[in-house]
Amino acid sequence: VEHRRAQTKVVEYEELNRLKANLLATVSHELRTPLATIKGYATMIIDYDRRLKRDEKLQHLRSIDKAADRLTELVDHLLDMSRLEAGLFRLDRQETNVDRIIEEAVAETQLRAPQHRVRAELGGGLSPITADSKRVRQILDNLLDNAVKYSEQGTEVVVRARRASRELVISVTDQGRGIPADETDKVFDRFYRIEQRLSKDPGGLGLGLSLSKALVEAHGGRISVASKVGAGSTFYFTLPILKTEKHK
Ligand code: ADP
Repeated sequence: VEHRRAQTKVVEYEELNRLKANLLATVSHELRTPLATIKGYATMIIDYDRRLKRDEKLQHLRSIDKAADRLTELVDHLLDMSRLEAGLFRLDRQETNVDRIIEEAVAETQLRAPQHRVRAELGGGLSPITADSKRVRQILDNLLDNAVKYSEQGTEVVVRARRASRELVISVTDQGRGIPADETDKVFDRFYRIEQRLSKDPGGLGLGLSLSKALVEAHGGRISVASKVGAGSTFYFTLPILKTEKHK
């Protein structure tokens, strides 16, 4: 028995080491790509300032801006993940108007992805619930970012929300590449990514969905996906409607 236990420990240890090596490789790669973009365009603007047209300069600056956003997102995801790991993570529950959060998230996504058609389909008049509005927004942002990231320009992204007995059901639908059936559960695992095997990889750490899952579950909700390869995906999450002291 002792021997077998020791063997299990060795296997666990090796697995952990592999994960760590993998994480370092992924993080370095993901940091390097936007850094190279920032450095490259900044140097070009400094060196060729006079020869660049105003339009060209603006375009380069936009690339720098986007790369900086990507770095920020990477660092935010890593920090959130380590906070969750360390058990330092707490929800700040307040009266939350989910309709409004959806509308804001949709409007900002549309600005960031002008080539997509992003819209909300709200039945109207969802009553406020008790939730951590920042975290709800973060879940939505993650799902919206993915919807845009994994679908072609010109396609549609729709957010819906409705009440079902004691919970809200919120969904984000895209017309993108979809997720193979045997991977619909795995995409919620930490560091799981499908893109590595595909030629057109938009990049990412594979943390967004696992974070979203943790945030949804911290609220007492569930998250899932229904998808068809080549047709698109719909991510669903629920938020329980908690009783508040206030009556309206
Ligand atoms: P990241 O996007 O950083 O790779 P995520 O945790 O957000 O990490 O997603 C994990 C994986 O799930 C992605 O690599 C991608 O393969 C897949 N995925 C997520 N959202 C979608 C979507 N809307 N359509 C198709 N694939 C998706």
